[in-house]
Amino acid sequence: NRQVILKHYVTGYVKESDMEFKNSTIKLNVPESSNAVVLKNLYLSCDPYMRCRMRKTEESYIESFTPGSTITGYGVAKVLESGDSNFQKGDLVAGRTRWEEYSIVTDPQTLFKIHDKDVPLSYYTGILGLPGLTAYAGFYEVCSPKKGETVFVSAASGAVGQLVGQFAKMFGCYVVGSAGSKEKVDRLKGTFGFDEAFNYKEEQDLDAALKRYFPDGIDIYFENVGGKMLDAVLLNMKVHGRIAVCGMISQYNLEQTEGVHNLICLITKRIRMEGFLVFDYYHLYPKYLEMIIPQIKAGEVVYVEDVAEGLESAPNALVGLFSGRNIGKQVVMVSRE
Ligand code: NDP
Repeated sequence: NRQVILKHYVTGYVKESDMEFKNSTIKLNVPESSNAVVLKNLYLSCDPYMRCRMRKTEESYIESFTPGSTITGYGVAKVLESGDSNFQKGDLVAGRTRWEEYSIVTDPQTLFKIHDKDVPLSYYTGILGLPGLTAYAGFYEVCSPKKGETVFVSAASGAVGQLVGQFAKMFGCYVVGSAGSKEKVDRLKGTFGFDEAFNYKEEQDLDAALKRYFPDGIDIYFENVGGKMLDAVLLNMKVHGRIAVCGMISQYNLEQTEGVHNLICLITKRIRMEGFLVFDYYHLYPKYLEMIIPQIKAGEVVYVEDVAEGLESAPNALVGLFSGRNIGKQVVMVSRE
């Protein structure tokens, strides 16, 4: 069983060499009197929060990885054997698994059975998985949007951002996104239907860039990056604007997070800034699937993925999130079936 191991706690930018491969033997059957499920992993999700688990911390909402152990994450898999009556051999499932070819999951309540298979299976790591629910709950529940409002999304071409932009457009908002390359900016406007988009890496002055696209200010900021972008956004928010803090990827590889200078705008502009975690919104998942699956099938929502082939490519794919190498949702295909 080929596995991806975290070698040690990581400091600074995560590198491929912080991970290594190991081969081990695994018995592909359910241990006696256990409700474990034996999985063949098909697709693994690369997510920015995984970097936060690579440092030793007790302050996070999720525990650190254990150095010397297989990396854990979300994925799509096929059931080979099941000691749990909710799953049968041959079922396709999504949920918590490990970065290896085969996994024995001893807490099968973290898995759910995939019923709708008319969509690409890899979508269950993205639009039909946590990033999708994050975009849905973050936009509809946390942002309190109103038709006609102005919305800014950072890391807008990624797994979450591309959906936030599309939801906001369907809702009747004016939507601008930022991303880190021309190709991504073109996709924001051409593929996802953002009204405007800009490459933040080419802007000397982020405040001026935001003023260009939002001469009257921003009602809603969907925050994915933090740091300098947040500071510039604070200066451009409207009175009673809302900031949904989904993530701050620009800070995940820093040993000390950067200071934000313009927080006083929260008072002067009476801004509501609210952090959220998708885990608090699991109850909305069935409602979300009911909405999104027909929209995917009707072509009303599009989803761009960046699929790296083979478990061997997983460390490289994960590291690439932090330099923006991924175009769309980063997935690793371990096996097609
Ligand atoms: P993405 O697919 O968007 O990948 C990450 C992207 O972030 C990169 O492609 C890159 O795009 C951008 N990026 C990387 N480093 C920086 C930097 N220093 N400054 C600005 N942009 C950077 O990831 P996701 O859509 O999966 O995640 C987006 C955000 O949402 C993350 O912050 C993540 O932690 C958060 N999240 C939060 C959840 C929650 O429950 N609160 C759940 C899921 C995700 P570019 O080329 O544009 O720079």
